[in-house]
This record gives sequence, structure tokens and C-alpha cells, in this order.
Amino acid sequence: MTEHDPSPRSRRDLFRSAVRYATLGAVTVVTAGLVTKRVTKPTEAPCVNRGICRQCAAARSCNLPAALSFRDAVDAT
Ligand code: SF4
Repeated sequence: MTEHDPSPRSRRDLFRSAVRYATLGAVTVVTAGLVTKRVTKPTEAPCVNRGICRQCAAARSCNLPAALSFRDAVDAT
């Protein structure tokens, strides 16, 4: 069994270790976020209905240019 060492050196080491591990954790979280986050432009998503928006179930929520044009045309009428 180890004795508790209340010396300033051990507290300093404890704080250094806490800062080190907190920094490591923050870097890990940020890196994981950057790696997993993929910025998808609206034009990169695949069209699921060969561009026939009128018959597509996703026409109201799709952000592809064809769907935007389709909604503009439908809403204008
Ligand atoms: S709404 Fe139009 S562009 Fe979007 S997936 Fe359907 S057919 Fe393709």
C-alpha cells in the first residue's frame, strides 16, 4: 500500500497530468470530429429518381438543383 504524498511536487505533477490528459482528450475529440464530419454539398448527394422530381417522394426535402427548380416551378403556379 502506498502512502499519500501531499508534497507540492506531487500536486504539481497531478495538475500537469490533468492538463496533459485534458488537452489530449480535447485534441482527440476535435480530431475525431474533423475526421468524421464530411461536408456534403447539395450537389454531391446522389439523385434517387433519375432527376424525375415530379414522381419522386423526396421532392419536398431534396436539395439538389433539379429539386430546387422543380419546387420553384410548382410553387410559382
Ligand atoms: S427530388 Fe428530384 S433531384 Fe431530388 S432525388 Fe428526387 S428526382 Fe432526384
